[in-house]
Amino acid sequence: RQGCGGCPLLETPYPEQLRQKQARVEALLGEFGPVSPILGMEHPWHYRNKAQFPFGTDKDGNVVTGFYAGRTHTIIPNTDCALGVPENRRILEIILAHMKRFQISAYDEQTGEGLLRHVLIRKGFQSGQLMVCLVVNGSSFPEEETLADALWQLSGMTSLSINTNRERTNVILGKKLRVVRGTGFIEDSIGGITFRISPLSFYQVNPVQTEKLYIQALAYAGLTGKETVWDLYCGIGTISLFLAKQAGKVYGVEIVPDAIRDARQNAERNGITNAEFFVGKAEEVLPEKYEKEGIHADVIVVDPPRKGCDERCLETMVKMHPQRIVYVSCDSATLARDVKYLRENGYEIVRGRGCDMFPGTVHTEVCVKLERVSR
Ligand code: SAH
Repeated sequence: RQGCGGCPLLETPYPEQLRQKQARVEALLGEFGPVSPILGMEHPWHYRNKAQFPFGTDKDGNVVTGFYAGRTHTIIPNTDCALGVPENRRILEIILAHMKRFQISAYDEQTGEGLLRHVLIRKGFQSGQLMVCLVVNGSSFPEEETLADALWQLSGMTSLSINTNRERTNVILGKKLRVVRGTGFIEDSIGGITFRISPLSFYQVNPVQTEKLYIQALAYAGLTGKETVWDLYCGIGTISLFLAKQAGKVYGVEIVPDAIRDARQNAERNGITNAEFFVGKAEEVLPEKYEKEGIHADVIVVDPPRKGCDERCLETMVKMHPQRIVYVSCDSATLARDVKYLRENGYEIVRGRGCDMFPGTVHTEVCVKLERVSR
């Protein structure tokens, strides 16, 4: 297996990786409640459905793409990631050849000059659909149609788009997006629900493990079919729609407008009529709905980004007195912080479980079930 150095556990035998991760989840939660065995993968390779490759120029002036060398922004050429899909390589080779042919430059972080910054590739594991998004320091890319022709030689090519990012920033994607060819999104399905995914929308990177994670979150939610459920940080509504089948009503909240557009489409496409979605920050939408409209919740599911939940969000969740809170986390430090707040404010941990979404890396997804302590 070829590694680029970006994934520190790639050389560690998989059972040992799982053992280490289980120990970390137990260290985090074990003192407060039982921890079930981590959900591992059967084939922990080529699991990532998404890759974002940086482009740059080597010292001989050739455009290169690959991975940043650990903690630097020096690109190690590598188009063949052990965790990514095999199609990444062909797509990158086509783009590199196109750039050579039409003398297109790569972006230079030092000077802010040059055109191509990153290439985002996503694949629907169920659908086989491929999406390519070029992140450029400009609004167009030379010979876009010629590039589209070359890419469409690959089976599954569904969408080519251009994302504009002219900022001097580490943030990969800009806000402006234009479709060059195809639909502008791909589809994938998890657990019998089909999702449409736009380039700017978040979608879990490991679909095989995502299904296991959602099944676990659904089990922790303990739904009977009557409950009102809030799914905060809902992305394209994946967890919301998973829960909707067994809930009375589901409300999703998400900050990215494109993701909410996807979520509404996804509900419609799957014939789910008891899910409603709001664009905005969870810490603003939830207090507003609670204070002004007096909405309530039997169960709240949260799946925040690494920085965890804003305290205003946690505060409102507690005020709403849901019977259960299911916390899905990709960052143990903020999970520990937020769970501490919830434990100090009337909730106890019933059970927790890790899900190995990121084999080869030190990251672990964790799902925790909290129940309101009756006083
Ligand atoms: N539950 C979804 C998404 C989880 S990722 C899934 O499983 O696919 C976290 C999501 O939170 C991202 O979609 C991100 O855009 C969104 N987000 C980040 N900050 C937010 C905030 N303050 N309020 C609401 N959503 C936010």
